Amino acid sequence: MLTCKDFLGWLNDYLDETADEEVKAQVKEHITNCVNCWVVYDTTKKTLQVYKGMEPKEVPEALRAKLLEALSKKCGKAVG
Ligand SMILES: [Zn+2]
Repeated sequence: MLTCKDFLGWLNDYLDETADEEVKAQVKEHITNCVNCWVVYDTTKKTLQVYKGMEPKEVPEALRAKLLEALSKKCGKAVG
């Protein structure tokens, strides 16, 4: 079972679709069961769609930090 921290580490790969099937399956399972991470996933995906075409497909560092912070607050503990 994926932890929220693992999820964040794999999110980039997952959205890039370069991840292994195993990784994809686990990420999918995690966001099905963890609403906080689903929100992070959804937000990141939408942001990436905006960024696509003008920047590399990586999550901007500032956004990543922001998401991590938001997630830590929601989870009530430090992640990342
Ligand atoms: Zn989670």
